[in-house]
This record gives sequence, C-alpha cells and structure tokens, in this order.
Amino acid sequence: MPEYNGPDPVVEITGVTEVARDLVVVPNRHIDLVPNIGVIGGTRSVLIVETGLGPSSAEKVLKFAADYAKGRRLYLTTTHFHPEHAFGAQAFAGEATYLVNRAQADDLAGRGASYLDMFRGLGEPVARQLEGVKLGIPDVVYDGSCDLDLGGRVVHLRPTGQGHTKGDQVVTVPDAGVMFTGDLVETGQFSIFPWFPPYDTDVSGVRWITVMQRLIDEHPRVVVPGHGDVGGHQLLADVRDYLEELRDETWRRRDLAMEEPKIAEEVRALMIKRHPDWAGQEWIEPGVGCLYSEHAA
Ligand SMILES: [Zn+2]
Repeated sequence: MPEYNGPDPVVEITGVTEVARDLVVVPNRHIDLVPNIGVIGGTRSVLIVETGLGPSSAEKVLKFAADYAKGRRLYLTTTHFHPEHAFGAQAFAGEATYLVNRAQADDLAGRGASYLDMFRGLGEPVARQLEGVKLGIPDVVYDGSCDLDLGGRVVHLRPTGQGHTKGDQVVTVPDAGVMFTGDLVETGQFSIFPWFPPYDTDVSGVRWITVMQRLIDEHPRVVVPGHGDVGGHQLLADVRDYLEELRDETWRRRDLAMEEPKIAEEVRALMIKRHPDWAGQEWIEPGVGCLYSEHAA
C-alpha cells in the first residue's frame, strides 16, 4: 500500500448530516482512512455503521451514538474488515451488540492481523491511531442475510459476495431509501483495489461489477459511500461504469498480448485523462493488475 501522507486519520464529530428521518452520517471530511459513519435510529434501538480507525476515534463514535440514542439499545456493524471501518470495535464491547456477516468475520479472523501490521507500516499518523488495537470479536455472526428490527424500522444487512473484499456487507434502510455501501463505492475517487499479490488477492473486479449491477437495481434514493460525499443513485452507476472501463481497456490490451506493466501504464494514463478530478490515482494500477488476472465470469 502507498505510504499515508494525509492529515491525522481521526474521526471528528462535525458536519453531522441527517440524510433521512432519525438517520445521520458523520462525514469523513475527505480524509483518507476516515470512513463515513452512519447512525440509524428506530424506536427501541440504534445501529452504528463503521467504527473509525482505532480505539480513540471509535470512542468518539460511541459517545456520539450513545448521546444520540438517548437510552435506546446500541448495535454496531461494519461494512468490511478493513482497519478504518472495523478496527475500533473494541471500544463498543459491552456497550453495543456487534454483528456482522459470516464472510466478513472470516476475513477479520484470517486477514485482520496482517492488515494491522501493514497499516502500522503506512506511517506514524496511522500507527498512532492503531496503538492498543485489539481486533474486535463480533457478538453475533449471521449466515445468509439479517433483518435487524430497530423498532418501527427494519434495517437489511446483506453480504454482497466477493467484490472489494470477500466479506463485503451492504446496509440498507428500505423505509428511507438509504444504502451504506462501504468501499464498494467512493465518491470522486478511483475504486480502491486492495490487490497486494501474493499477500492479498481477494478483490475481484469482475464480481464487483456484478455486485454493482445488483445494487443499482435496488434503486436507493441516498447512497452513503465508504469515503467521500453522500450522493444519490448515480454514484452506483459511476462506479459500475468506471469498473467496466477499467476491465474493457485492460482486457483489450491483454488480447493483443501486451505485457502487464505496459497495460498498466497505458490504462492509468487513459483513466486519469477521462477522470482528471478524481482522487486515488494510485489505485488504478492495482485495479489493472486484478483485472489482468481475471476472465469473464
Ligand atoms: Zn476497504
């Protein structure tokens, strides 16, 4: 992974936005390694989505959510096991019921420790936030899908199958038309491909495209991405279109027997030309590498 050079990746409880009735987002303020965090209320319970990177950010999230809940029971879920999304779960122990899908729990158990090491190596600002991290242990691991009744509001927790990770989970609030996608979607940014062969090759560009099509067909009104501004349905189409471009441009060159480094160089230049305003240019090449290794489903 590229070294982290941004501001301290800490959650701040500022700019909190009500995107639907009794449903707020703590925005990531365009800081890499800070996720968008959701707090979804029902009459009896409140669900928190994502913890932030490390215990000190997570404690802020917990305090905010507990104040918001005013005595309602707390639940926590995370969209996938990556550190800024899930490596603060310990702060919620005994305070919130932590539930995740089976594949995400497997990712955390299998890859959590190596991601902790990798992230600690990204630089001092990241290592500081990860001091004292203990990998969270979910209280409830569900198989299949989960409908969580918060009282007068049922939230759908759905594993998508392999995409950005093997264990991605999408959280939707049908009565409000709101969807939390985690890192399957970012706003104004090239899709993050955690393609680190030989250590981690769990991301699949081909399957990710299929996942995006299914999410598009659900027609959410509000999409809360893993990082970047909250938007509408169009955010989903933008990601699908980019992934398809990346696939087609990579495969076209592979069919011409072009070597992978040359493909990466050409496709990178092309994507930057097509999306000059997007952040995260360093994620184009891993995306090419991933798709280069894949074939039509
Ligand atoms: Zn991620």
